[in-house]
Amino acid sequence: MVKADYIWFNGELIKWEDAKVHILTHTLHYGLGVFEGIRCYKTEKGPAIFRNHEHIERLFNSAKIVYMKIPYSQEEIRQAIFETIKANKLTECYIRPIVFYGMGAMGLYPLKNEVNVAIIVWEWGAYLGEEGLQKGIRCKISSFTRHHVNISMTKAKVCGNYVNSQLAKIEALEEGYDEALMLDVDGTVSEGSGENVFIVRKGVIKTPPPLGILEGITRDSVITIARDLGLEVREEKITRDEVYIADELFLCGTAAEITPVREVDRRIIGAGEPGPITRKLQEVFFRVVRGMEPKYQHWLDYVE
Ligand code: PMP
Repeated sequence: MVKADYIWFNGELIKWEDAKVHILTHTLHYGLGVFEGIRCYKTEKGPAIFRNHEHIERLFNSAKIVYMKIPYSQEEIRQAIFETIKANKLTECYIRPIVFYGMGAMGLYPLKNEVNVAIIVWEWGAYLGEEGLQKGIRCKISSFTRHHVNISMTKAKVCGNYVNSQLAKIEALEEGYDEALMLDVDGTVSEGSGENVFIVRKGVIKTPPPLGILEGITRDSVITIARDLGLEVREEKITRDEVYIADELFLCGTAAEITPVREVDRRIIGAGEPGPITRKLQEVFFRVVRGMEPKYQHWLDYVE
């Protein structure tokens, strides 16, 4: 990774190298912590954070779902993000706020432990590779089932939830694929290891309903942009076999942006290259995040 100079840690900017925690950090042992992934893009009017408000709100909602209390207001976190970007003199970066329990009681009741908040920013290019963004990636339907909402709260971006994601990701990569596509307990399509999923079939865009998946902010942006383009979008269950016969398929997320999928389990999707609707959505999306679409200016939070 490309390191930056400063990290915001519990209210202060400290040197990247000094941002350390004790080995008894509770979250390190048991995974109860919440985090966000946000992107800041270079625009004509300076660096702009894409849908910052929604990301910070989701961070607080994640914390609420798992009984965590963040010792700052949403506005304080927003200002801290600005401060961190400015201190590191970055114009385009990925932003990782994380809230975690520190040292204290080591049992499974963490609520008396101190709550720590850190904000890390760094330069991060295309998550699934520049070539993947252009030509599409290859996915494998995971042998691991995605979370059930009564096992792990899926609307919360909880550190521990990502063990399941990592198992799927490792399996997919070890078998020569680029990313995993996960099914839920009912066997219908859920999401990628860190992305939401969309298919296009007979001109209609479909994505699984927000039940048992992370309510992606990119997912919401894609739905909005697609509908504004006059395209039909349906939030409905998708089966595994429907994925194989989709005309187009793509994954989306803050890190992955809009990444086309050209193959799943050795079945070629559509023509084996990004389809016209995926391309159009990608094109508009990248214009939106870079402040080139006046209609979506309200999604940009310019670094003050
Ligand atoms: N699903 C999962 C499991 C994720 O980790 C992410 C990334 N945060 C997403 C979907 C996409 O969410 P967003 O568009 O808000 O980044």
